[in-house]
Amino acid sequence: MRRRLITPFKTLLVLSAVLMLRSDCWDDGPAGSASIGAASFSSSLRPWIDTHSHPWGIGTVCTSPSCVNACITAMDATGVKKAFFINPPEPAGSGNYADENTNAAAALYQPSRLFYGIGGSMLQSEIDKMPDSGVATEAQKLNFQTIFTTLISSTPAAVVIGETAALHLSYYPEHAFEENPVNSDLFYLLADLAATYDLAIDVHIDVVTQTMQTPSFYVAQSPNNPSTLQANIPDFEELLDHNPNTRIVLAHVGRDSTGAMTPGLIDGLLGSHGNLYAQIIPQENPPFTPNSFKDANDNITPGWLALVQKYPTRFVFGSDTFYDGSTSFRTLELAQKFLQQLSSDLAYQIGCTNPVAIYKLPSGC
Ligand SMILES: [Zn+2]
Ligand SMILES: [Zn+2]
Repeated sequence: MRRRLITPFKTLLVLSAVLMLRSDCWDDGPAGSASIGAASFSSSLRPWIDTHSHPWGIGTVCTSPSCVNACITAMDATGVKKAFFINPPEPAGSGNYADENTNAAAALYQPSRLFYGIGGSMLQSEIDKMPDSGVATEAQKLNFQTIFTTLISSTPAAVVIGETAALHLSYYPEHAFEENPVNSDLFYLLADLAATYDLAIDVHIDVVTQTMQTPSFYVAQSPNNPSTLQANIPDFEELLDHNPNTRIVLAHVGRDSTGAMTPGLIDGLLGSHGNLYAQIIPQENPPFTPNSFKDANDNITPGWLALVQKYPTRFVFGSDTFYDGSTSFRTLELAQKFLQQLSSDLAYQIGCTNPVAIYKLPSGC
């Protein structure tokens, strides 16, 4: 793996990160503008399930009963019926690395509203130790499988494996850069284990279709980012083909971090790989990229809307909210605003039906 960790803690930068994450909760992106406010849709909230949120991040921890209750308040204000707690994809020793038990413990404060996932820390950190060749030793594979088996034995059962990462750009010095071949031995092993246990994998990939210069935005944001980024979509297609029984959810679809996250790219991937699903994040993009799910007025852009309509069973929402005790989040409000712009049938399909089907949830909206 190519990764760079984490320059010494700088109080001012961390404070900035905390303030940024507090309101908008990108695990890896810049903050947006002020809250929309729920008033415009409070009388007709559409229900949805949030398949991607974090009770633990850099400077954000939400593992107490009072914080989880605040999370429920935020969910109620924006129509979120259920949410997944997962760990961000982090190398061991980074500022965002979380105890794997934390998600389950936090989720169990509100078991009728919260599910949890496994592996964002302990499995991802093993993936991060892989060499660039993607070839693991037998000892590494055995260790990985042992960690998985331990995590999967927790009760109640986890509903997803994640958040994993192939390419994860760094947004500030305390935030890890991770670049792993997604057709590596450990990703293949993870895909096979996921199929065996009938779990979906949530994977973060800042998509790169051909080797490119790292956008200057990221170079300026963090010294952890390298000067070039390697193509990862061909490798990703190999992972998708490795085990057709493995359901793989591409996280943060609609947040174009590299300029390559276009509706056309996702259309091609969904059309070619029946085991791929797309997790919508109706958020602002970094300032240099044009392919946002929404325009400046928070309306769905035509290309993405057409794609959602073309593949109604393949999309879910994943807000990437970092809970911290606040009771309102723009990320959640944007998702509700997105739902309001769909037909009622399509909104229910994406918000409620698809998560139950893709993640085999024991209960829905
Ligand atoms: Zn992510
Ligand atoms: Zn995330």
